[in-house]
Amino acid sequence: MNERTEAVSLPAAATIAVDITALAEIQDMVRACMQCGTCSASCPNAPAMDRTPRSLWRMLLLGLVDEVLESRTFWLCSACYSCTLRCPRGLPLTEAMAALKRLAATDGRAADRKRGLFYEDFIRNVEKNGRVRETELMLHYFLDMRDPLLPLDYTPLGLKLLRKGKLRLGGSGQRGRLGPLFAKVREMEARP
Ligand code: SF4
Ligand code: SF4
Repeated sequence: MNERTEAVSLPAAATIAVDITALAEIQDMVRACMQCGTCSASCPNAPAMDRTPRSLWRMLLLGLVDEVLESRTFWLCSACYSCTLRCPRGLPLTEAMAALKRLAATDGRAADRKRGLFYEDFIRNVEKNGRVRETELMLHYFLDMRDPLLPLDYTPLGLKLLRKGKLRLGGSGQRGRLGPLFAKVREMEARP
């Protein structure tokens, strides 16, 4: 636990170690939320989320940190910026989702480390290949997880996808095409 990290007393029975500075910054991002629900209605991934973006912001402001970090909502955010563009309060919602991913990835839970690694490998794979190359993605993920038994969990699914022709074993004709886009986004995000 570093000096910026401490156990937070929370309403329910939750006591997890979080970076309270990072947490406060995320809460500030959504403090002006008026709960109109436009972000949830605009989100293409909301049907797959266990909490809507609107309720996630409310829980965050109520200090329900454990529940927020256990949610898979922010992991499913694909950074499409629809909510950010449409929020009547102009809140940086996509940035808040990304900040929650970073916070969860450092809070020490095995499940979050696993999700964080998958997310990083997924994005790296898309940037490199211009699309997802499933076989390469899973190979990198297994290597990063350093769990020799993990591939066994995915073998039935892999065989099923292979049989249905859903896995591409060859190279990608889109390789490197998204590089300039990723570079531009990094440049924009680095701006003060
Ligand atoms: S669109 Fe903005 S104001 Fe409305 S619920 Fe979402 S974050 Fe809150
Ligand atoms: S940026 Fe994320 S949370 Fe916002 S609409 Fe897109 S997928 Fe949903």
